[in-house]
Parts: sequence; C-alpha cells; structure tokens
Amino acid sequence: MSFPVGVSACVIGEKVRFDSGHKRSPFVSKELAPYVDFVPVCPEVGIGLPVPRPAIRLVDKGDLSVRLVETKDQQKDYTEKMTAFSEQKAEELAHQSLRGYIVCAKSPTCGMERVKVYRENGYASDISGVGLYTQALMARMPWLPVEEDGRLNDPILKENFVFRLFALDDLYQSVEQGVTKKALVDFHSRYKLVLMAHSPEKYRELGRFMANIGHYDLDRFFEQYRTAFMQAIAIRATRKKHTNVLMHLQGYFKNNLDKSQKAELANLIHAYRQGTMPLLAPLTLISHHLHNHPDAYLANQAYLKPYPDALRLRYGL
Ligand code: SF4
Repeated sequence: MSFPVGVSACVIGEKVRFDSGHKRSPFVSKELAPYVDFVPVCPEVGIGLPVPRPAIRLVDKGDLSVRLVETKDQQKDYTEKMTAFSEQKAEELAHQSLRGYIVCAKSPTCGMERVKVYRENGYASDISGVGLYTQALMARMPWLPVEEDGRLNDPILKENFVFRLFALDDLYQSVEQGVTKKALVDFHSRYKLVLMAHSPEKYRELGRFMANIGHYDLDRFFEQYRTAFMQAIAIRATRKKHTNVLMHLQGYFKNNLDKSQKAELANLIHAYRQGTMPLLAPLTLISHHLHNHPDAYLANQAYLKPYPDALRLRYGL
C-alpha cells in the first residue's frame, strides 16, 4: 500500500538546489519512502531557473510587498513568475488526492514558516515569511498536512504529521467507491477517540456536523468535513488529552477485568500521565485486553492502530 505525497525535490536527494546540492532527509527518503509515492517538485527549476543558479531571497519592499528576488541583483524579480507557477501547480496537485506535503525549511520558495525576509539594504527585516510556493499550496489545499523536513526530526511533530498522512489516506480510501453517507459516518465513528485526543471541542463540533449530514449535498459535505477533520487532528494531542482517552478506554473493560488487572491498567495510565511511561505502555495493555475481550467498536478505532507499527512512531510519545 502506498499513497501520493508531495515533496520538495531536494528533500529526497535531487540535486536541484541553487548550489547543485540537495537536502536529503534520511527519515523521508528511507523510513517513510516504503509507504508513499513521492511527487517531487522543485518550483525554482519549474520556473526555468538553472542548476546551479544565483541565490534568491524574500525582500520586503515596504507597503506589505514582499518580493522574490536575486540576492545579488534585486532587479531580477521572480515574484510574478513564481506566483503563477505555484498557483497552477497547486491547482494541478489538488486533483491528485495528495495525502500530504513535505517542504524544505527556510527556502524563500518552499519554506513553510519563519522564512527570513530581508530589507532592501540587505539587513534582516523584522517580519518573517512563507515561501511563495508553499503559500499557494496551503491556500489551495487547507486540509493538506504540510510539514518541513527539519521539523520532522522532532518525534512529536513527526508522529503527528505521519498520523495525518495515514488518516487522510483512510478518508480517501473510505470514499473510493463514491462519497456515501454510510462511508462518512463509519469513518467518523472510527476516529472518535482520535478526535477526543486532539481536541474535545472539535470532537463535539464535528459530531454535530456529522449528525446533520442529511441536510447537505454529499460532495459539499465531504469537502467541508475533510478540511474540518484534518484541521482538528493537526491540533496537538497532549498527555492530558491522551490520558482522558485512556480512561475512557479503561471504562470499556470495567466488567471484564478483575481487581488486580484493573489496578495494573490504572497504574500504567497514571504512570503515563506522570510522564514515567510512554503512551505505548497503557495502549499495549489495552490491546491485550481487547484481544481477550473483543469489542467491535473499539477494534475499529483508528486511535489503537493509526499507522504501521514498523514506523515506530509512538515510542517517543
Ligand atoms: S527548496 Fe524548493 S525551490 Fe529550493 S531547491 Fe528545494 S525544491 Fe527547489
């Protein structure tokens, strides 16, 4: 099984940077690669710039006008060309059901946040920006998980990003045979615990939205649900929120476990809440109890199996 994920071409090792180098990320090109079909794009090459090429940067020209220009010759301005390329590419990619996008940090073209913006005199400006290409991607596909290569070295950000790729893939697979009310209700039901762990408020909001599905045109509903769901799971799941979900899960076994089993699970949840055990510890015990006391609703919960174990992403949580 693999699914399409957009990527800055230099992040998977293509030598397309201004200095003919690359920014290959071992996590992206080794660990994630077996699960995804990369869709590499180098927007600077895309607008016809050569490799190697003069460096470019974002320059604040005042009046809220940030331009993409050559560092050594600010008369060479690529703003219009890059904006047109980015909008056209984002439109094209919006029809390819990408599950996410990994962009190269700090680039005036691909950076997702805190990209350096300079003043005309060469000094750093007070403002920071977003690469022109990534700005267009995020505007066209507000549901899309977008992350920078460097931030994927943080175990929590990495887990959340990869989780979102698999969740969006699950959503697309759920409606592969057509968008139906049943497919969407079933999907939403599988992600209830996930939503509780990320945002109890969004969990309630999306629940109300889903309850009104009958009042919407289904395709329109799907589009709105996709954005709202993906933005909800982009909210970080904290230890406190995970603990609430674990206690909720614990409740499912109240009639099946004896006193010592209940105490064992309660102690593990407590240890997780205190930060002395990883999330995986209580989850492994819960999976064990679920195996001995099957429950169809719980067995289907994406919270218990959000992505392949081989990615080893929950060890750091
Ligand atoms: S950061 Fe973007 S524009 Fe720069 S080399 Fe990588 S893919 Fe190309």
